[in-house]
Amino acid sequence: MHKSTLITMISAAALAMTAEGAAPEHFQPKAKELLADSIELEKNAHNLNVIYFVGNDMEPTADYERRISELLLYLQQYYGKEMVRNGFGNHSFGLERTENGNVNIILLRGKHPHKFYKYGSGHGPCLKEINDWFAANPGKKQSQHSFIIMPTWQDEGYNDKNPGGVPFYGYGKDCFALDYTDFDIKHLGQPTKEGKLLTKWYGGFAHELGHGMNLPHNNGTVSMNKAFGTPLMGSGNYTFGMSPTYLTPASCAILANTEIFVPETNKTRFYTNEKEPQVYNATFKRRGGTLELFLEVSADVVRVNAYVQDPPYAVNQDYDAVSFTCNTGTDKNGKRVAGIIIPLNELSNLRHHKGGEMELGILFQTNDGSRFRWKIPFDLNKQAAGSLINTGKPQLHRGY
Ligand code: ZN
Repeated sequence: MHKSTLITMISAAALAMTAEGAAPEHFQPKAKELLADSIELEKNAHNLNVIYFVGNDMEPTADYERRISELLLYLQQYYGKEMVRNGFGNHSFGLERTENGNVNIILLRGKHPHKFYKYGSGHGPCLKEINDWFAANPGKKQSQHSFIIMPTWQDEGYNDKNPGGVPFYGYGKDCFALDYTDFDIKHLGQPTKEGKLLTKWYGGFAHELGHGMNLPHNNGTVSMNKAFGTPLMGSGNYTFGMSPTYLTPASCAILANTEIFVPETNKTRFYTNEKEPQVYNATFKRRGGTLELFLEVSADVVRVNAYVQDPPYAVNQDYDAVSFTCNTGTDKNGKRVAGIIIPLNELSNLRHHKGGEMELGILFQTNDGSRFRWKIPFDLNKQAAGSLINTGKPQLHRGY
């Protein structure tokens, strides 16, 4: 029959590996302390482009190179440790380092005053200038993923104590975050004004970076949330640094096939797949206390994620979508298949978990990191008779 993989409970793997001298000499004591239990990460085929972007009337916030380097290296370890814990190996996003150990941060000055690059609309012209710069400096572009930081505005609305004004969201393979004077890892987890502010903006930074590395929102199962806290791609941007915050197996499954996570031996040309994967057969049944999803797919599908969500389904209403994942495998007839079993008691954080209209989102990940989403409405009670979804041709949408 079908190979199936059920990933709902994964015990924390012991992180035995340590890296010597992970923190550069000039890092502050708190950063050194936080990086002391660093794990050794695989060398990446591609690195994240890190860009500090300022308007033509602005200067970067003081000491940004050390501060942002400390914050990024800690985050690289966080993602790497979560990948190990979820069984995906010691992979994280790649970062190019400078001679003194800082992260290589490209400082770009915009053509316009800083208020031109504002929240909500400023990302477009900013990305255009960045793309123009990469076109003129092709050797500097390390991957298709960029992380862009702008300093907070300083005006009647925003300042270092109440940062804002600039774009702050993931946008395709790019993501935006902000910088301010106290954006410093020494405040991590501190019960102070600066500590709370850091969780807000560093948690946001960690979460937006996730979007910029292909991750959609999701929630964990009931038992995972109990064991590991709040998923970073759920509402973990509000808990990061303050209380346990984790990456779900479904998030890690996507990262494992993201351009800036793969090891240097991986020669894949990412995101080139123009062809939709094929779904030849799909069944979705309720059997007692579980929902069972089985799929037969084309050979280019490497992993399948499932997301169960209750209404509403509008943009940014998907934080509570409970996620599951499995690798595809080959059955005895040589067909590429995937199976996911969803225990209903793992959905009880959803308001409508006892019945009524819900939505199953199936995310197909192809071997070049492309993702395609199929959304299927269903009713938990009507699914009880063991009905099939009979697919015909599924409507697949590229992206999240
Ligand atoms: Zn988000």
